Amino acid sequence: TFFADDAVSWSSLGLSDRLSRALSNAGFDKPSLVQAACIPSILSGKDVVVAAETGSGKTHSYLVPLMNELCGGGVHSGKVTSDQELTPLHSLSIVLCPNVLLCEQVARMANDLCGDDGEPLLRVAAICGRQGWPVHKPDIIVSTPAALLNNIDPKRNHRSDFLLSVKYVVFDEADMLLSGGFENQVFRLINMLRFDEKLLSRMYNSGSEKAMELVSDSLLHLNLEN
Ligand code: AMP
Repeated sequence: TFFADDAVSWSSLGLSDRLSRALSNAGFDKPSLVQAACIPSILSGKDVVVAAETGSGKTHSYLVPLMNELCGGGVHSGKVTSDQELTPLHSLSIVLCPNVLLCEQVARMANDLCGDDGEPLLRVAAICGRQGWPVHKPDIIVSTPAALLNNIDPKRNHRSDFLLSVKYVVFDEADMLLSGGFENQVFRLINMLRFDEKLLSRMYNSGSEKAMELVSDSLLHLNLEN
């Protein structure tokens, strides 16, 4: 079964009305099981590791609460704010993916929730492949570790300032991101962020048991290093 219990709705999980509407407009009438399991924890400000099968809706299980938070929808307080208060806050989220194809898919999924008329809910930028730094200040950056490092390395340009406003980091396919040589790039990136337990939440999205171990080891690693 894909969907959560009938009694579970987007708003019962704590999402704002505007995002619930955006989800319905995108054809997502109700949450999947994985989304119902993850979203309340993420909204309450916890770091979350998700291991679930492809096709279970796990991409939206991080995108949706992230977007709710970036629009001032009340993460951490757990409260749902009214539509009028829903303006993007000036904090940034980074979604790291191990390859360009996944970056493009995730960026498309996020953009599909942003609405296509008038001012978008949020600005989503894919920085990967041939797509470089966006013209407008983004709210969500979807990137590979290498592409992001190429774009922000302080030795090469002045874009490292943006790292100070990063509030959420998502590791999609965390088992891949934390192995096979990617991990050095990932750790370089993480060490460039202002690491503050209260400000920076980390979310991990992956598909295997192995990822759980890698992520817990890496969390330890990050905490020790900072
Ligand atoms: P994923 O597991 O993230 O690869 O997602 C699998 C597919 O499920 C994607 O194509 C999503 O567009 C779709 N999907 C995710 N959440 C929902 C939902 N709540 N209702 C309907 N389709 C969904």
